Amino acid sequence: MLSFVYDALPSRVIFGAGCLDKLPEEIDRLGASKALVLSTPQQRETAAGIATRLGSRAAGLFDRAAMHVPIEIAHAAREEAGRVGADCCVAVGGGSTTGLAKAIALTSPLPILAIPTSYAGSEMTPIWGLTQEGRKTTGRDTRVLPKVVLYDPTLTLSLPPAFSATSGINAIAHCVEALYAKDANPVISMLAEEGIRALAASLAVIVQDPGNLEARSEALYGSWLGGIALGSVGMALHHKLCHTLGGSFNLPHAETHTVILPHAAAYNASAAPETMLRAARALAAESAGAGLYDLAARLSAPLSLRAIGLHETDLDRAADLAVQNPYYNPRPVTREGVRVLLQNAFDGRRPS
Ligand code: NAD
Repeated sequence: MLSFVYDALPSRVIFGAGCLDKLPEEIDRLGASKALVLSTPQQRETAAGIATRLGSRAAGLFDRAAMHVPIEIAHAAREEAGRVGADCCVAVGGGSTTGLAKAIALTSPLPILAIPTSYAGSEMTPIWGLTQEGRKTTGRDTRVLPKVVLYDPTLTLSLPPAFSATSGINAIAHCVEALYAKDANPVISMLAEEGIRALAASLAVIVQDPGNLEARSEALYGSWLGGIALGSVGMALHHKLCHTLGGSFNLPHAETHTVILPHAAAYNASAAPETMLRAARALAAESAGAGLYDLAARLSAPLSLRAIGLHETDLDRAADLAVQNPYYNPRPVTREGVRVLLQNAFDGRRPS
């Protein structure tokens, strides 16, 4: 019998090609008038274009966002927001830029308007992260949830095909783990299944034809659903493993998700058979693990931990770290089980 808790997160979403034009009126709608525009150095040009379009509503541009939000950069961005008298932040970019805006919102009342340009999904979550002396701390706080999210797929046309593939699988990972989450509920499960379907179908087109706006739109829609799933229910083994591998071995975020996901899904298949069948159905595959592996192969994405820079001698320590603190997972997490999973992922074996 159904029994669940559903906690909806309040955010306003505007979706569609060209919706970036609505940014000035959205700033007005929040009662703000001086935006600090944030980006990475790589996306400075895009951010500067947006700042120019904002005219007097732009108070400044801070272009030093970096992966995992180093604390020094968070301090510098907070100072800049104060210096220019900003009353809101406009985050233009992927998870790193949204993460920087969240770091500002954590210690100030500045609302965030997020303009996501990758598929990471951070814009839909109240999860923040900060890295100090090589250690990443994360937490949940609704103050960091963006008030407005503008999804304009034209901004994703520049996302390179290889990163589109791994970033898209990162979003699929949010959906897969939402399906078997401890606090799964029917609404989020529906979104999650639809997210997998939309992403799997569109990514296959994007890697062949990165300028296909319809496929870009479908992928961004899927990543929105993945972001809702990530922000709404708890994650499990897959996200824990990726966090460990990223934090302790400095592996790239989206690529690590891409390699681990088929193996995490295969690990959990026997303990969550019905939900994994939903994932398989969304992938039009016989099983979720094999379907996810085949999708990554079709997208020419990395398939092994070896290919993304892990050393085989690190596998034992990675397994130790992954079982250090107990957490929910549909199938009990054992040192031995995780070690086998990691070896399969290291070798890039297709889950059977
Ligand atoms: P990213 O934001 O670091 O982006 C990677 C690179 O791609 C950057 O140089 C960026 O400027 C560039 N880029 C992004 N969009 C582009 C586009 N359209 N065209 C050209 N270049 C573009 O990577 P990411 O995978 O989006 O985010 C990863 C980070 O986000 C990690 O630190 C991860 O922990 C965090 N994250 C947080 C949450 C959360 O809920 N808090 C969720 C997902 C990811």
